[in-house]
Amino acid sequence: MSGIYIHIPFCKQACHYCDFHFSTSLRKKDELINALCQELELRKDEFQNSSVETIYFGGGTPSLLTNEELEFIIDSVYKNYKVSDTPEITLEANPDDLSKDRIIELSKSSINRLSIGIQSFFEADLKLMNRAHNANEAKECLSVATRHFDNISLDLIYGIPGSSNAQWLENIEMALSFNVPHISSYALTVEPKTALASFIKKGIINNVDDEQAHEQFHLLKAKLEASGFVHYELSNFGKEGYFSKNNSAYWQGKSYLGIGPSAHSFNGKQRGWNVSNNSKYIKAIQQNELPIEIETLTKTDQYNEYVMTGLRTIWGVSFDKVESDFSSAFKDYLIEHSKIFINQQLLYIDDGHLRVTRKGQFLCDGIASELFKIN
Ligand code: SF4
Repeated sequence: MSGIYIHIPFCKQACHYCDFHFSTSLRKKDELINALCQELELRKDEFQNSSVETIYFGGGTPSLLTNEELEFIIDSVYKNYKVSDTPEITLEANPDDLSKDRIIELSKSSINRLSIGIQSFFEADLKLMNRAHNANEAKECLSVATRHFDNISLDLIYGIPGSSNAQWLENIEMALSFNVPHISSYALTVEPKTALASFIKKGIINNVDDEQAHEQFHLLKAKLEASGFVHYELSNFGKEGYFSKNNSAYWQGKSYLGIGPSAHSFNGKQRGWNVSNNSKYIKAIQQNELPIEIETLTKTDQYNEYVMTGLRTIWGVSFDKVESDFSSAFKDYLIEHSKIFINQQLLYIDDGHLRVTRKGQFLCDGIASELFKIN
């Protein structure tokens, strides 16, 4: 199985915490769309032997593209690749782009899954993060979207300075009231060189409080699990049958093609990065060149990635897989280095798989890095 990720590098305005690649000028939108289709054609041989099961429009803000523009790109995928009969086609969308008419129009297109960037239902949080939508738009778009789409995910951010645990619980309750089958939730992180980092440095905004973020993570987990969601990846909760196929494939080490500026690709052995600059991207593609940097992963890199992604998911890290894909020396290394975390009840072994305990979950990226091999 393979997936195609398509990066749409435009946003209406810059959220204060964001360090993704995007431009707030849509001047090059047409050229960019043509370049995406051309890249799809240039790279068609990379997926000769497998069928595409997921197409994911991420960004940036893909909902800034019209339906015709999205369909034009999807047609290009179908022209150049073998696509399965029932692909999952996800559109990341922001509430301010999802009017009632737009949602109805989208529900008639090939897009069959919406991932909506709600982040919070509180006006003060949205302002602090400089989101382009307001709390009413968040609620209105969800009430319409859930009437026209069955497969919807919404994003929420926790650990926002000034947002109490009681407010966070209200946010979760509000999200649950729309009966969506999937919720992704991330801790607010302060990335260097963002407006948020600068406001914190100047004392305009309080710094994020890791302890509060930790508490809010556990409130989220308890509330969503009690409401029938499976916590299948550190930041993702889904009802049975609604796990993101695109992201699950990524976490299970399947191949994917990343199309567009700054998009990442992975073929099992190599990782690639497209240039993070719209003009340079368009120019290279127009000259039939791929603006990509490629790194070949060593066995150690592959092992480290497997441990990192495996520990974040309910599937855990399989000792048999570590032995067969890497070697018995890697397996022995993993057993030896995980002992300390097993003793601290942060990890446990179940059915030949290493997994994180409830206590270890919030710390799992740090634990994984302690299990990495250096060479
Ligand atoms: S909409 Fe998304 S990609 Fe665009 S600035 Fe905000 S967080 Fe970043």
